[in-house]
Amino acid sequence: MNDDAARHFSQTYAEARGKFLDALGAHEVEAARHVHPAARGRDGEDLAMDCALLGPASAERLLILSSGTHGVEGFGGSGAQVALLHDAGFASHLSASGISLLLVHAVNPYGFSHWHRTNEDNIDLNRNFVDHGKPHPPDGGYAELHPLLVPRHWPPSAYNYLTIAAYIARRGMPALQQALSRGQYTFRDGLFYGGNAPSWSNRTLRAALRSFAGRAKRVLWIDFHTGLGPYGHGEMIQAGRDDDAELARARAVWGKDVTSIYKGTSTSARVEGLIAFAVYDELPGVEYAGIGLEYGTRPKLAVLQALRADNWLALHPEAPDALRAAIKRQVRNAFYCDADDWKAMLVERARKVSLAALEALK
Ligand SMILES: [Zn+2]
Repeated sequence: MNDDAARHFSQTYAEARGKFLDALGAHEVEAARHVHPAARGRDGEDLAMDCALLGPASAERLLILSSGTHGVEGFGGSGAQVALLHDAGFASHLSASGISLLLVHAVNPYGFSHWHRTNEDNIDLNRNFVDHGKPHPPDGGYAELHPLLVPRHWPPSAYNYLTIAAYIARRGMPALQQALSRGQYTFRDGLFYGGNAPSWSNRTLRAALRSFAGRAKRVLWIDFHTGLGPYGHGEMIQAGRDDDAELARARAVWGKDVTSIYKGTSTSARVEGLIAFAVYDELPGVEYAGIGLEYGTRPKLAVLQALRADNWLALHPEAPDALRAAIKRQVRNAFYCDADDWKAMLVERARKVSLAALEALK
């Protein structure tokens, strides 16, 4: 186990961004800094999606590593990215292979800075990449749960908890998770809201793909996430279409442990509008496979409770400071285990999975 891993992780978005840009500097690479035009960070700092390409500029064979799609989850993914940038063994594999590496740091910098899973418009970016010109996908049962999940008062009443417990007893936890997290396009103030138009992060990420990956023939993509599964375990969840050939490609790269939201083998529910879908629009014709690398933190219900609390807080700016601070800490703890063993597990897994991708692209 790599005892040194913890130094690549941070306590704030600004610190994480600084470590990322410094680590790029050691490779003499400049980041394309896409600064958010309006939103500011928790401490008033700039918010940016920083992108950088290592290796040949032609980028015909490309590995993408992205962090912070879900804001606060970026503490894990950023740590993995920075650790890989400092990893001499990884760097020599990369340069010997002639493969290009595109790093996208903080896809959702607002959520990263404010310890929030969604973005500045309460949009879950990993539900936002649908065709907004067409009718939105059905919500899979969210509407019924919305009043329960987004109560008027926090903490919620005993009746609220009992009603949710009764729902789980009647239909099962998987049914709750599916109804809740599939993605919904109706309640702007709700959970797992996919938005009604492409968000700033969506448009910025698409532009980055066109500019860095426009000549790619083969692309592999690892998008770092946290909050589902056993502590420190990194589940590889196929990120792409419901397509057997694409799933087979992902398994050829990363092995049979790659799970599928379409086949019910993942801890994640079947969801809509993944960021990976940008590949089909922006890089038509590339041979693509990707995964969400999902690291476990805490039990599902604890994570859900943190999300509900944070959603309530966003709707209640009048909340007392002590309650605000407690909820924010609860959210951070739900998506980031600030512990050396967890960080070491993250880095070790990220390294292995990234090296497997380089090997497959050779
Ligand atoms: Zn996530």
